[in-house]
Amino acid sequence: MSAKTDLEEIYQLLLRWIKQYTGADLGQEIRKGTPLRASKALIELTSGYILDEKEVLGKVFEEKGSDLVYETVEFYSLCEHHLLPFYGKIHIAYIPSKSVVGLSKLAKLVEMYSRRLQIQERLTNQVADALWFNEDLRPKAVFVMVEGKHLCMMMRGIKKERTVTITTATRGLPDKVEKFEEKVLRIIKREKKHDKKD
Ligand code: ZN
Repeated sequence: MSAKTDLEEIYQLLLRWIKQYTGADLGQEIRKGTPLRASKALIELTSGYILDEKEVLGKVFEEKGSDLVYETVEFYSLCEHHLLPFYGKIHIAYIPSKSVVGLSKLAKLVEMYSRRLQIQERLTNQVADALWFNEDLRPKAVFVMVEGKHLCMMMRGIKKERTVTITTATRGLPDKVEKFEEKVLRIIKREKKHDKKD
């Protein structure tokens, strides 16, 4: 059975359910294209399984000058429990040993992992591990912080619109990471102040 016919059935079931429990008859004609559009959208939103992190990060560049690389990337993902979006910001920082990856590659890495059925904790760890275990990059430490808003919490259930879920992942030797984490948190704070001014 194709994704289209499966979604067609789910969609018809939804229309029947609405009619049965609320009495509202939403009709058929106007929504003819919905199952196909919805399946196309879902296929796009889960297309991140095609690639892997090594392909996405690609070549590294030698760069001796910088002692910290920091980038914030916006993300949009789907929660695997409800198939509803969660979205927000991923702050990525690492201490390079000899090489760095292109900044646009970090955005591509985030997009790849976001376009999968996700939970925020896994997304956070996957981004950290992709850098930490990259054999060409071999960073000295990695810190990733994700700030996510979950529509499955905001649109239904407890309905706490302003709730932001924060998750972090740290990789590196314990004596190295403490000061590094503090430094990155200060950068994030500064960035937030700056964002408010804009
Ligand atoms: Zn959810």
